[in-house]
This record gives sequence, C-alpha cells and structure tokens, in this order.
Amino acid sequence: MNRTLIYSVMTLSLLTNIYADENLNPAQIMQETLAKMQAVAQMSDKSQKNNDTNTSDFTLGKYGTFKFEKANDNVYIMHGPVVGPNKENEGFMNNPAVIESEHGLIVIDPGGNYNVGKKVLAEIEKVSTKPIIAVFNTHKHGDHWFANKAIVEKYPKVDIYAHEHMIKVSKEGEADVWYGILNRATKGNLEGTKEFAFPTKPLVDGDSIEVDGQKFVVGHPKVAHTDTDLLITHINSNTLFLADNLMKGRLGSFDESSSIFGNIELLEQIKKDTNYTLYVPGHGISGKKDETIDPFLNYLKVLVEEGQKAYDDDKESYEIKDEVLKKLEWMKDWDAFERNAPAHLNKAMLEMGERELDAQEDEE
Ligand SMILES: [Zn+2]
Repeated sequence: MNRTLIYSVMTLSLLTNIYADENLNPAQIMQETLAKMQAVAQMSDKSQKNNDTNTSDFTLGKYGTFKFEKANDNVYIMHGPVVGPNKENEGFMNNPAVIESEHGLIVIDPGGNYNVGKKVLAEIEKVSTKPIIAVFNTHKHGDHWFANKAIVEKYPKVDIYAHEHMIKVSKEGEADVWYGILNRATKGNLEGTKEFAFPTKPLVDGDSIEVDGQKFVVGHPKVAHTDTDLLITHINSNTLFLADNLMKGRLGSFDESSSIFGNIELLEQIKKDTNYTLYVPGHGISGKKDETIDPFLNYLKVLVEEGQKAYDDDKESYEIKDEVLKKLEWMKDWDAFERNAPAHLNKAMLEMGERELDAQEDEE
C-alpha cells in the first residue's frame, strides 16, 4: 500500500473516531486530526530511516558490496576495492578495521572522505552498536583518514591517534594536497570532508596504548611508505596492521617523503622478527605473514636489484623499464602496475643517487 493511501485510510478512521466525541467543534476536530496525522507521519519516517541504516548495503557499482568480516578474535576488517580513487568507488579503497572491546569499538583508518565515512559507520553499526571509543590513523595519506570526519560528527570527543609527524604535516598542508587529489579523482565526492577531523593524540615509535582492555603497541622504526607511518600491533588478537608499507594487488604511490630502501628494510625486519596471527596491508587482502608480505617485498627487491645494475652502468630508468616490467610479469594484473612500476623504478634509482651522495659526505 502506498503512503497516500495509508494516510487517507488513517484520516478517515481518525475523523470517524473524533466525530464520535460530541464535545469538539469541526475546527477542533480538524486540528486534532492534523496533529495526529503529523505524529504518525513522523513515526513512519523514523522507522524508514532505521530500516535504511540496518538493512541497506554499502555497494559501489562494479566493485560490489562491502562489509566488515571477522578476521581474527575481536578484529573485523572491511577490505576495500583494490584500485585507485575514482568516481565509481567514491574514493573508498582502503581497509578500515574495527576492534571490539567490552564497552566500545576502536577503529583503524575509517576511509577516504566524509561520505564514505558515513557508509563505513553504518557498516560498523552492523558489527556492534557499542560506541566508538578510539580511532587510529596509520599515515598522512587522505584515503586512510579523511573519514574521521563522519566519526567525529557522531562522537565529538573521540580520541584519534596518529604519529606526531602525521598530525604536523597534515595540518601544514598535506591534508589540502590530498583533498585536491581525492576530490578530482572522485569528481567531487569530498563534499563535507572539510574542516578536516585531524588526529588529536600524537604517538611516537614504541608507544603503548591501552583502550578499554585492548592493548596496542605502535612503531615507526624508519621512513618507509612515508615519514608518518604507524605500524600498529594489537596485542590481544596478535594482529599487525602494516599501513601502506604493505600492499597486495595494487601499486599505490610513493611520495617525496618515501623511501623504497626503507620499505624493503622494514618488511625484511618484520618477516624476520615477528610471528603474528594476522598481517593487515593498507590495500589488499590480509593473511598470514609470508603470503601477504612476500609479493610486495619481492617486487621492491627486483626494482632495487635491476635499478642498481642500471645505475652502475650509468643508464636511466626509462632505458631498462621494459626489461624490468618483463621480470615482473607475475604482477601484471595488479592495479596501476604499468603506470606505477616505472615511477617506482625511477624513484629507487633516485634514492641510489642520494645514498651515494650521503656516503660521500660521510667520508669527508
Ligand atoms: Zn598511503
């Protein structure tokens, strides 16, 4: 039955009921009827809204439907589309995580803008209706943290943790740069994201945080994906969140602060020294240690090995690009492979030059 029909039937029955009360004049009857109709309409609107948040799916065109799935003990992860930001994915492309504690929820990297954040929040509420009591952001790139805005709107006092340098550079202009990148890529889906909801609680390498019985240790042993990365270990579930120091199925961008050599050293160190139950990349599917770390680590090592040979022969990266891409055939289906691999090779060779200069300065 459509709404107009329901309202007509209701009006008729309300009028009939009220006419039965002989003490009211026609004007009073009309007024009461209208007031009752309004109340019923409001109730109906409310239940409509509740239905929307409880049952509607977070669907992004050809990329499918996204929801949080239990990944380990009390850890839930929503693995986002393994592609760059675009109109169809609305700028959603990372792996938001939820950790359920006794009294609340802790969120890691809620996503890339306010609108996505609202949808992620609706999915979080399907995991549990407990309040969000803390948020962690893994690094300065906006695709991971701009959705803080939706969480802060609902929980204005929530603590948001990030590396201290992430907070500093984001406020000094990095957030605006990322706003431009993501707004252009999504054709304007960044609406509502400003004023930014910056992290509020600065952390440094080695800090321990306990939130409602959930223990976290954070690390920033060296510059790798960026100079603001936070490795997050969730002690209770034995899970490591690697931020964009690890990707699977997609090649993201390095920026002027990144170090490919640092990224290799970091991943080798994690492989050697850790034994967690679950490893969570910044983009791509989570899993056991070797299956998640090896593909990206091997990729970076090929860039450095091949790049070093060319560097020693005084060749430019574009001269060996095709040869290197051929050696990496196994990852040709990774998103942005053909565009980003040559750029990464170039970056690796630039770093070789910088490292050589640094070594010479050290000798002098
Ligand atoms: Zn990143």
